Amino acid sequence: SAKRAAGSFAWYSEAQEAARLDHLSLVSDLRVAVAQSQLQMWLQPKLSLRDGRPVGAEALVRWAHPERGMVSPADFVPFAEQTGYITLVTDWMLAEALRTLQTWQRSHPDLSIAVNLSTRDLQDPGFAPRLAQRVAASGVDPQRLRLEITESGLMDDPAKSVALLHALRAAGMPLSIDDFGTGYSSLAYLQKLPVSELKIDRSFVDGLDAAPATQRLVKAMIEMGHGLNLMVTAEGVETPAERDTLKALGCDVMQGYLGSRPLHGEKLDAWLLSST
Ligand code: C2E
Ligand code: CA
Ligand code: CA
Ligand code: CA
Repeated sequence: SAKRAAGSFAWYSEAQEAARLDHLSLVSDLRVAVAQSQLQMWLQPKLSLRDGRPVGAEALVRWAHPERGMVSPADFVPFAEQTGYITLVTDWMLAEALRTLQTWQRSHPDLSIAVNLSTRDLQDPGFAPRLAQRVAASGVDPQRLRLEITESGLMDDPAKSVALLHALRAAGMPLSIDDFGTGYSSLAYLQKLPVSELKIDRSFVDGLDAAPATQRLVKAMIEMGHGLNLMVTAEGVETPAERDTLKALGCDVMQGYLGSRPLHGEKLDAWLLSST
């Protein structure tokens, strides 16, 4: 086949090849998914470690597939990034986040929503002006729409990404570095980015209370973040011991199953009610 002739897939086992083709067929359904409203925006609360109060939520996509049931982003986001369809997901999530922020305008004016951007979005020079226009048209305060960018996504084409981040920041949206600690960004580089939040990857949080060496590492990350005037958020907090350790190390915000799993529908409504 053409694929084998290209050589790059020759080392795939049959099972891997089947899984890859399965993912590709899933991703080709993505256009239909967007058109037929099969996507859902779930929200995971972010809580202040100072007083436990909610500061906002991260928007996480879910795909209610007619045959496969609820598909997790881990099973389609990487492939959607390869094919470029991820930009459809981003656009849909941004629209959904803006719509939700509009409905919160009266009831929850202090809560922000953070949307994940992909590497593809960062490479599109039209992305920032288009988003700025959409936010302006929605009447939502741009400060309430936070945008998350992964460390590795930024490193793809740093010059281009940095220009885009400045344009987004100039339009009033706050920016976050996601999965911090898993990429290779240098201090000097981070200092140049117009970001206001650093999200420590959950691999550093898991079992933190019982791992003194990781505590020293996380403490250094938090101090570095504060040195750059950034709010520091820990991801994947699952236990009270992890939370207490993070708080003692000076971390500002927590996100994780301990606070709440990502929520949708009635559970989200209940959380919103209890948070005010
Ligand atoms: P992420 O941006 O790092 O999002 C956090 C992930 O950690 C979410 O997984 C969340 O459900 C999970 N999580 C939260 N708290 C805990 C915890 O206490 N323990 C554990 N073990 N996990 C926790 P999810 O929703 O499956 O998303 C996975 C990844 O898919 C995200 O990682 C993000 O990279 C990507 N993703 C999700 N939604 C979108 C989207 O709308 N656009 C793009 N481009 N990527 C998305
Ligand atoms: Ca994220
Ligand atoms: Ca993350
Ligand atoms: Ca854990």
